[in-house]
Amino acid sequence: MAASFSSLALTQVLPFLPLAQGDIDYQTDRRGEPGLIDAVLAQTGTTVVFVRDGLVAVPDGQAARVDYETAKIRLAEVPGEYVLRGFGGALGDSEETGVIAMFLGSYGVGTAHPQAVVALDVSGLADAAEANGDDHAGASSSTVLPTVLKRALERFDWVSLRGFAAHGSARQVGQATTAVALCMWHASQRHCPRCGSPVRPANAGWAQRCVNEGCPSHRSLLFPRIEPAVIVSIVDGQGRLLLQHNKAWKNPTRYSVCAGFVEAGENLEHACRREASEETGLKLGELKYLGSQPWPFPASLMVAFKARALGTDIDVDNRETVDARFFTRDEFADALTEGRVAWPGKSTVARYMIEEWYGQKL
Ligand SMILES: [Zn+2]
Repeated sequence: MAASFSSLALTQVLPFLPLAQGDIDYQTDRRGEPGLIDAVLAQTGTTVVFVRDGLVAVPDGQAARVDYETAKIRLAEVPGEYVLRGFGGALGDSEETGVIAMFLGSYGVGTAHPQAVVALDVSGLADAAEANGDDHAGASSSTVLPTVLKRALERFDWVSLRGFAAHGSARQVGQATTAVALCMWHASQRHCPRCGSPVRPANAGWAQRCVNEGCPSHRSLLFPRIEPAVIVSIVDGQGRLLLQHNKAWKNPTRYSVCAGFVEAGENLEHACRREASEETGLKLGELKYLGSQPWPFPASLMVAFKARALGTDIDVDNRETVDARFFTRDEFADALTEGRVAWPGKSTVARYMIEEWYGQKL
């Protein structure tokens, strides 16, 4: 994993959180420019990356590397000009092409050679191709797709963001995280929540517009809803860390820290204290902010805290949490060695929280 840090995303305690290290300049002021996507695609140095149903495209043969711990994977990239030529000089309306174009921003803004990145969400094409199948009755979206792009898409492998995050550069994982988050949102919201009319992508893929001109969301636009979740490493008076196992986890050796969604009317601190109390019966004292991480599966934002438990009497709820216990560092190391406890995944904030407590990389 490349050790680059996004200066904008920097947090003191957990400086490197996967998915949170993208260093692209969003250039939010440009999103409303008419014809932005076509203009950016025509620009020298622009690259295009691809997402589909929450997956990211990687070069042919690279998907298999996900299973190898140290293997590097990169995103499949196609020059913007090449894509634009394929579409005959203009990408046009997403309704016709089945493609949602998203302007992710640029590197080197203000220099002679800024490098822009556009993500194309091709989920609509895959759907159309599948629906058309072998009978050629529906000659819609799939025939609009330029041959050059069709060939490129056939050559790509597709991997999950979680799979990619453990193997990609911090910069490309940042691009993939944004593209997947927007892709999941466009897929889940096809109609206006206010009036039920269809929606169209707006603001270079970062928003949607309701097609009903009489609806407030036609003018004011619709934006992605992000769902905050808290995650807390709970430590007792002796510095032991609480790890718990959830009923829903198939792997019996999977243990992690306390986590849950923020509920209506709560602040983050309340959510931490409520979750701890519900799952383990523990009351929490002071809370310290550790960092945060986008987690678009499908729309979460993980907000990490460290907390001191005011007692050590654990009473698990047995609905969600079936086991919870405090570990000293030695006990934890033994449990790992003996295979009684396994790590949270490499891209998760939980892993970095446990490392922070443990005092070294795992
Ligand atoms: Zn509407």
